[in-house]
Amino acid sequence: MKVPKKIKTYCSKCKKHAEHAVSEVKRKERGSLKKGSIKRALARGAAPKTGNKGQYGSKPPISKWKRTGAKSSKKHSFRLKCKECNKFSIRTYKRAKKALLE
Ligand SMILES: [Zn+2]
Repeated sequence: MKVPKKIKTYCSKCKKHAEHAVSEVKRKERGSLKKGSIKRALARGAAPKTGNKGQYGSKPPISKWKRTGAKSSKKHSFRLKCKECNKFSIRTYKRAKKALLE
């Protein structure tokens, strides 16, 4: 999927169509645990961002959450910056394997 770097679209703050600059959404850095491990650690009573307080592996998870299969595509989000009011908004596109800014 190709996404243009400039889009003319509606701005909800200006309440009219205006030119927007498109940039990628910055992702937060991950901790040492992966997403599924964090979910299991949370189910075992760990608080977010504190590690797992030595509880990992000592008791089974309470939830019966199961990984049902990985998807090969991702939903891509981009930040739109209005050139008139300089406010940001986030737009999420359809699922695609790759998204390129052009
Ligand atoms: Zn605006």
